[in-house]
Amino acid sequence: MRYEKDITNMINGVCLINEPMSKHTTYGIGGPCSYFIKPRDKKDLKTILKFANENSIKVYFVGSGSNLLVSDSGIDGIVISLDKVFKNIVFLTDTEIYAEAGAMLGKMVKLCIGKSLTGFESLIGVPGTLGGALIMNAGAFGGEISKCISYVDIIRMDGTEHQYKFQDIEFQYRSSSFSKDEILVGASFRLEKDSKENIQAKRYNASQGRKSTQPLRVRSAGSVFKNPKNTAAGYLIDKAGLKGTASGGAVISSKHANFFVNSGNASSNDIVALIRLARKAVMKKFGIHLELEIKPLGFPKGTFDV
Ligand SMILES: Cc1cc2nc3c(=O)[nH]c(=O)nc-3n(C[C@H](O)[C@H](O)[C@H](O)COP(=O)(O)OP(=O)(O)OC[C@H]3O[C@@H](n4cnc5c(N)ncnc54)[C@H](O)[C@@H]3O)c2cc1C
Repeated sequence: MRYEKDITNMINGVCLINEPMSKHTTYGIGGPCSYFIKPRDKKDLKTILKFANENSIKVYFVGSGSNLLVSDSGIDGIVISLDKVFKNIVFLTDTEIYAEAGAMLGKMVKLCIGKSLTGFESLIGVPGTLGGALIMNAGAFGGEISKCISYVDIIRMDGTEHQYKFQDIEFQYRSSSFSKDEILVGASFRLEKDSKENIQAKRYNASQGRKSTQPLRVRSAGSVFKNPKNTAAGYLIDKAGLKGTASGGAVISSKHANFFVNSGNASSNDIVALIRLARKAVMKKFGIHLELEIKPLGFPKGTFDV
């Protein structure tokens, strides 16, 4: 690889060459990326961002890959993940928490529940890092990560640090206004105290709801499509008769039709085929366009169009 020596010499963190992305996605799918980097600290991160910027190398930020579909042919460029490295979580006051973007969302949620803080309990069971959750505005059972944000710290490609206050960020259903060329490094949240009983009841509802409706024992990336206004993507796919439909090793779950699962040896092309099939069928039956919730990486333009 052209920049192998430069990159491995300039950082103290991990740099893997030609790393299969299948090792870094919950789907277990994805071809190799040129460089997979886990910076050790902010200095490392800034060094690699500036190097990529100056040499016009494409950079992709990922968390723990629980919302990603990576192409079988992989990714030409640098993939940076803060997962399991930028992972500190601290309480600033009784009701304020600061977490680094590579911290697991679930860990932060449990720490807050343990301190009788309300706001995050419906997010119990959402896999992934805090960074991924903020980009996606992760949500479940009526709660969304954006609801308790105080501020978010980011680093730009020129290595400069910036802070967005909550009011500077636009959050919508499963989306946020962060730019693709800034990496989220941490965020602060302000929560409220509530009784242990109330919090445990909300937590219980969320985890029971998840267990009863989602296929959690098989590899997936959660919901493939966003829910259209006033309806659910899973309902539409089900009514289009596609539950249980397979393409190669990929299957539209018969438990939740918006979960397309890897039954063992699925390729990204198998998932793409199901996505196209579902889009076509739902458009034909209901006249509704299904918008992707999962984030595709490394596909040519137009791959998912029908
Ligand atoms: C079984 C299962 C259940 C799920 N249930 C839910 C659910 O109930 N609700 C829900 O909202 N989601 C759900 N998901 C989807 C997924 O867990 C969330 O979207 C999660 O927040 C993604 O986090 P991640 O760290 O895995 O991010 P990734 O999948 O790695 O990345 C997601 C996006 O964030 C970007 N990104 C990640 N980290 C950074 C960073 N530090 N800086 C800049 N950009 C970054 C990536 O470029 C990508 O665009 C589920 C997934 C699975 C597998």
